[in-house]
Amino acid sequence: MAPDCWIGLDLGTSGCRAIAIDADGSTIASASTSLPAPESPSPDALQQDPELWWQAALAVLRRLQANLDDHCPRALCVDGTSATLLLCDSEGRALTPALMYNDARALSQAEQVAEQAPEDSPARGPSASLAKLLYLRAQVRRDQALLALHQADWIGGRLRGRFGDSDWNNGLKLGFDPEQLRWPSWLGRLNLSPIQLPQCHPPGSDLGSIDPEVAAILGLPAEMRVCAGTTDSNAAALAAGAREPGDAVTSLGSTLALKLISECALQDARSGVYSHRMGDRWLAGGASNSGGAVLRQYFSDAELARLSERIDPDRPTGLHYYPLPRPGERFPTPDPQRTPRLTPRPAEDHLFLAGILEGIAHIEREGYQRLCALGAPRPKRILSTGGGARNEKWNRIRARVLGLPVETASQQEAAYGAATLARGL
Ligand code: ADP
Repeated sequence: MAPDCWIGLDLGTSGCRAIAIDADGSTIASASTSLPAPESPSPDALQQDPELWWQAALAVLRRLQANLDDHCPRALCVDGTSATLLLCDSEGRALTPALMYNDARALSQAEQVAEQAPEDSPARGPSASLAKLLYLRAQVRRDQALLALHQADWIGGRLRGRFGDSDWNNGLKLGFDPEQLRWPSWLGRLNLSPIQLPQCHPPGSDLGSIDPEVAAILGLPAEMRVCAGTTDSNAAALAAGAREPGDAVTSLGSTLALKLISECALQDARSGVYSHRMGDRWLAGGASNSGGAVLRQYFSDAELARLSERIDPDRPTGLHYYPLPRPGERFPTPDPQRTPRLTPRPAEDHLFLAGILEGIAHIEREGYQRLCALGAPRPKRILSTGGGARNEKWNRIRARVLGLPVETASQQEAAYGAATLARGL
């Protein structure tokens, strides 16, 4: 009998990737392609034709399928960028471009939302899906049923040939209440008609089999199941190995993003802390403006690697930096006026670098302390991802400052995390 495999399909910020894993979590095949940059019709607007995602998804799934050897794909799960939203008809035909995750044009609509939504709602703000829904509604004819779908919802819908479903994670920024598992009553006061909100399912739950026509085009089995999806950053945290309460994932990319598995939902809208539900656990997170973007202002990646070799990670620098690329901080302590502190600068570059790395590690420690103060368990171990996770010296500095084991995550692709959801965590 052909061995089973499970597929994760990731629509990320710049590309589309598919990964197939076996029952043990070993990667059997992967394929990827880049996506064109979104169009920007005005400075705060970023939009894309969703058909580009579908073509990219078909291309990578076709290539993946060709490399599955004798494995039989049982289920597929899609993750997409959070709060990337479009309107479509009940057959899935896109009626608007998709407003991308970082589109911020829906300012007046965000004010409408703020009049109704609770202070701590993740659906507040111009980049949340709900303000985008209101913005897009003004662009279309209202004499037909309309569906509001996120990137992962729509791609999952195209794969099944059925539309109108989402998941607890993508639904969060549209206002879905993952504790009560329903759309809250305050949404009614926004009068969303004629738009139908999607039905939100547990991430990874079975939504039905693949559309037979799509299966035939891709050479995938007609019995293959398509699961409810998740967002790309949740999928990346699952890929890194976050499962049990106390598992923490630090992403050391351009910004410093922390995620921690908790048994209760944490929320603090002021500092951008909110929690995604995964089964009966919560993936809580917050992101600082500090991170690799500061390193990029001073050093190339090659210089970072070379200078890091000279750092003694066991020795505190005594510099007490607060590295920020520009004034303003959101998490652990929100302060729009917070200024970067990067002086005094030692004569030797490797000591300056050590001060920045240590400064970011202190923000990481403060970040986990903040999540714990909001109700999360103390982290047991830190799994690191992103460009900075390659830096062994930094991992050692962080382990010293945090007083915790720090490991580089062996799996960092969101597509891998989505595949684990398809398999069942
Ligand atoms: P993103 O996807 O957020 O742009 P990446 O995960 O690709 O970020 O990581 C890029 C960041 O990693 C850059 O800001 C860069 O400064 C940082 N980086 C690259 N190499 C190193 C290194 N050896 N040590 C520390 N940081 C590094």
